[in-house]
Amino acid sequence: MSAIILSGRDVSTAVRAEVAERVAAMSRRGRTVGLATVLVGDDAASRVYVRNKHRAAEAAGFLSFDRHLPASASQGDVEAVVAELNADDSVDGMIVQLPLPDGLDGEAAVEKVDPRKDADGLHPFNLGQLVLSRPGPLPATPGGIMRILGHYGIETAGTTAVIVGRSFLVGRPMALLLGAKGVDATVIQAHSRTPDLAGVCHEADILVAAVGRPKMFDERFVKPGATVIDVGINRTDDGLVGDVDFDAVVDVAGAITPVPGGVGPMTIATLLANTVALAEAKDN
Ligand code: NAP
Repeated sequence: MSAIILSGRDVSTAVRAEVAERVAAMSRRGRTVGLATVLVGDDAASRVYVRNKHRAAEAAGFLSFDRHLPASASQGDVEAVVAELNADDSVDGMIVQLPLPDGLDGEAAVEKVDPRKDADGLHPFNLGQLVLSRPGPLPATPGGIMRILGHYGIETAGTTAVIVGRSFLVGRPMALLLGAKGVDATVIQAHSRTPDLAGVCHEADILVAAVGRPKMFDERFVKPGATVIDVGINRTDDGLVGDVDFDAVVDVAGAITPVPGGVGPMTIATLLANTVALAEAKDN
């Protein structure tokens, strides 16, 4: 039997509508909500991501601010722009589009973002809040995945979740969220040094593939009936593909996110939800 398709596109439409309603309520009180992006260099994929974030922000009623620096920018130039946006009262949330060009330190730049404006939830303070189970903006991609699971009523308590990847952007925060009290999955964090990766993944009721290798996860990695979350975005000659070999897995899994139209749209929706929440928190 074919898996249920977990449409991040559909869930993101609902989240974005809810965000737009909150932005409209603030605007009726004369309050605008601003989201700024910092893009450095001309990486084609990063430009597309940033453009999509602006489109989504404007559609939800945000003011959006676009700061684009050349690839020749220094670390100091990038951090100076971050400092300007920190000081700008019309900016409620900002993102530094990662990765930065070679020679620049993306983590150091993110660390300069005011944690109260950290729309991506990646500042060490907010990652610390997550470790401590305190409220704060969630890292946008894992936060979006949690919303997909919630929307489709995927049971997490008592399940075994295998997360492949341990980046600070996706894998590590994903493990914290799935293992949190109240979510209650038993989490295995796998990575490039994990022996018998296919065997480990085959134990998973929830498999999150966040590696960046096209179609690496085929039917050998998937337990029948498992929920498969494909985070990967890989540009190949065949177009955009995930880390999961969708065609090989779709008849084995119980539910699966497609690429495109799965996790990607939820990352943007969560970014917007984080930003409006940061604006509301600032006013309260
Ligand atoms: P990353 O920082 O490069 O981390 C990749 C992780 O995968 C690392 O932990 C690495 O292990 C592990 N890995 C690499 N090769 C492996 C292998 N053969 N077997 C097992 N593990 C392996 O990447 P990322 O930023 O987390 O992103 C991962 C993917 O998600 C990329 O395709 C990226 O484009 C995509 N992404 C999508 C969204 C979205 O919105 N859909 C958002 C963010 C990222 P080690 O730690 O041992 O090196």
